[in-house]
Amino acid sequence: MLSKLLEKEINDQINYEFWSAQLYLSMSAHFADKGLPGFAHWMYIQYQEETTHAIKFFNYVIERGGKVLIQPIQEVSTVWDSILSVFKETMEHEQKVTSRINHLADTAVAEKDHATQSMLRWFIDEQVEEEANVKAIVDTLKLVHDNGYAIYALDKELATRVFVDNTQTSTNA
Ligand code: MG
Repeated sequence: MLSKLLEKEINDQINYEFWSAQLYLSMSAHFADKGLPGFAHWMYIQYQEETTHAIKFFNYVIERGGKVLIQPIQEVSTVWDSILSVFKETMEHEQKVTSRINHLADTAVAEKDHATQSMLRWFIDEQVEEEANVKAIVDTLKLVHDNGYAIYALDKELATRVFVDNTQTSTNA
């Protein structure tokens, strides 16, 4: 059985994962509107991934005999002034997610909840990957500035990303 504190914190994280999904869907819509289908596609996959994260927590709460409370989702940004600003916001967002996951892990340790610590290991590994993926794109964008041909090539590259639901596996690889 989950402690009331962990039940509340995981419920808040479910809401935050859905908020993340909305944020990335909004970024996807922004890129589609700007004529960048590859960037839009990459963000759409982010949206799909965040939804699977929310559902992984959702199923975990139920499995542990807790109650899921679906909460309203806060508004997300809809306008950005450059491609780089979208990815800088993505980077900051993923760093915030990492600190939230770390906080959850601290709570699970304090509550001596080994099962939750084990479940969170998946998310801890996932965040390493998320931050690395976004950093690679931020670095490339800084390198190419506003070079139209480079942006065009990057858009083609991001269009090849394939969605994989890896929440069902014990490792993220
Ligand atoms: Mg997530």
